[in-house]
Amino acid sequence: MLDIDGLTLELPATARPLLSDVSLRVRMGEVVGLVGESGSGKSTTAKAALGMLPEGGVTTGAVRVEGTDALALRGEKLRAHRARTVAMVHQDPRAALNPVRRVGDFLTERLALAGVTDRRAARARAVELLDTVGLPDPARRVRQHPHELSGGMLQRVVIAGALAAEPRLLLADEATSALDVTTQAEILDLLRTLRAERETGMLFITHDLHLAAAYCDRVVVMYAGRVAEHQSARALFAAPRHPYTRGLLDCSPALGEEDAVIRPIPGRPPSLADSFPGCPFAARCPEAEPECETWTPVATPLEPDAVSGDEGGPGEEGGEASCRRLPESAPGPASASGSAPASVPVPGSASGAVSGAVSGSASGSASVTVPAEGSTR
Ligand code: SF4
Repeated sequence: MLDIDGLTLELPATARPLLSDVSLRVRMGEVVGLVGESGSGKSTTAKAALGMLPEGGVTTGAVRVEGTDALALRGEKLRAHRARTVAMVHQDPRAALNPVRRVGDFLTERLALAGVTDRRAARARAVELLDTVGLPDPARRVRQHPHELSGGMLQRVVIAGALAAEPRLLLADEATSALDVTTQAEILDLLRTLRAERETGMLFITHDLHLAAAYCDRVVVMYAGRVAEHQSARALFAAPRHPYTRGLLDCSPALGEEDAVIRPIPGRPPSLADSFPGCPFAARCPEAEPECETWTPVATPLEPDAVSGDEGGPGEEGGEASCRRLPESAPGPASASGSAPASVPVPGSASGAVSGAVSGSASGSASVTVPAEGSTR
């Protein structure tokens, strides 16, 4: 579906590449989380799938979507790729909608890009799409303007627009971050149902590692334009191998952890003015040694679930992490911080959520409540 292989992106005026040797894969029907602080390269990586990179950038490596080299597309082929193969949902739905145009106009324009040019058919399809994403009274909604709808309703409209062309790959860039937790859970439930029904692959970009661990099949953690670690969500949450991953888990609170101590990662996220002769995380890493200052990051393969003790599921694969102390680097948030992760809230949807589980802290107490794979309404 999406295959990014050794992608490096350099800009003339920056001290370091925006992306360095980034590799990741999204398979049909799979949700892959892309996690990291602001400026880590998450959105740039996702936009590469749209063939949308900063002007003046020089790339090496490959970005293939269903076997097509997205970075080589130009003109009409590139427009068709963006309109029909890959769709992106951003954090702020209001930014995607023209405030003086009706919801129906937004959708019929998206449908026209996807080849539905008959006005009556497009109108009928717009109503169908709003019904698919669970918006009540869709025939009335197409006549409304954005200011008449709530944030959650607008995000459903934007998702309906993204689905207009039945894309093979959906890029969700902090798509639920601006929503209240109940609406967030409903949108997550909707996206997962649509993914299951259509076998759509999804790259789920978030700064929230707990949410990614609860919602995604696999998680890729990025730092300073590099992949620090990737593993199955289950293994990553139970036994994070990179000190940065452990830092992210330690500094994000979760409901239910009444006694948890939040430990911010010291220092600041790197900017494009910072260059690194060695490991980019060295200045903030609690486990850094002098050798780290000159060590060039290289990915170390991880055995499937070797540390978590989890046998994994069908098709699960071992991950990789870029730390020179591997395999010695202490595994698991419990050993890093002295406290195990507790419940991770992805509140139930209005459609009736059930509890799923991503289990396995060192103490065996971690559990993640996820929305049920169910209807969109
Ligand atoms: S290589 Fe060194 S500085 Fe970098 S993450 Fe590993 S221990 Fe920390």
